[in-house]
Amino acid sequence: MTAQRTAIVTGGGSGIGRAISLRLAADGFATAVLDLNAEAAEKVAAEVCGKGYRAEPLGGVDVSDRDQVNAAVQRVRESLGPVAVLVNNAGLTGFKKFLHITDDAWNKMLAVNLSGPFYCTQAVVPDMIEARWGRIVNISSSSTHSGQQYMTHYVASKAGLVGLTKSLALEFGPDGITVNTIPPGFVDTPMLRRSERKGLLGGSIDHHAELTPVRRAGRPEDIAAACAFLVSDEAGYITGQVLAVNGGRNT
Ligand code: NAP
Repeated sequence: MTAQRTAIVTGGGSGIGRAISLRLAADGFATAVLDLNAEAAEKVAAEVCGKGYRAEPLGGVDVSDRDQVNAAVQRVRESLGPVAVLVNNAGLTGFKKFLHITDDAWNKMLAVNLSGPFYCTQAVVPDMIEARWGRIVNISSSSTHSGQQYMTHYVASKAGLVGLTKSLALEFGPDGITVNTIPPGFVDTPMLRRSERKGLLGGSIDHHAELTPVRRAGRPEDIAAACAFLVSDEAGYITGQVLAVNGGRNT
């Protein structure tokens, strides 16, 4: 029997990250559910364990703080083993007219959405090099295909994540590590619901679903399915790629 591999899912306490945590655990990974929201991380880890899979919560960890990230990864190594899979999913969103974006808002967006994956990746890559096997999946955004008005800071951070993905894929391909990105489009999560409530979507989720080629909003499980494939052994020849999961909203 091969040893169980360990995965870390950032932002694993909600929405897309919760679905990815549940899916990777069901696929046989010991899964660390990392989230700023400690209660959410505990809840999802308990949900995973309740289904008979192996998970551990890493609550109260801010991906934009390198020391917190390093300490959390060390905890995972000690309890679940060396890290084989990293899903950089934690993210912030934001809507502001460009001229109203403050330095603080800009810096915070980049810190969480871009520096977070940078810190998390640096923390886990040594384990992957040692094992000569690793999988990194970065959750970017469909807004990087087209741009999005009033979301300049968000889109810039996510476009940076696409660049990080492609460059890491080249550097670590020889070590058996693949790095890919999934840009989700319009997935029904607490983040999207918050934006709907604030009237920031330019119409309801149902309205946008009608305009989507597959005629529905995305489900977190749609992203989890693509992620499960990218972290599998059989996806070993796929790296540096952008696998869009958006119901055809961007082609
Ligand atoms: P969500 O429901 O808001 O979940 C995000 C989770 O990440 C939350 O539990 C949040 O905790 C956590 N988080 C936020 N900042 C963090 C930090 N600094 N360190 C650790 N955890 C942090 O969002 P989602 O819709 O599932 O989005 C997941 C990812 O997909 C994000 O990167 C998002 O940009 C991307 N995405 C989503 C969509 C969509 O349609 N939903 C589209 C494109 C891209 P708190 O609740 O405490 O903030």
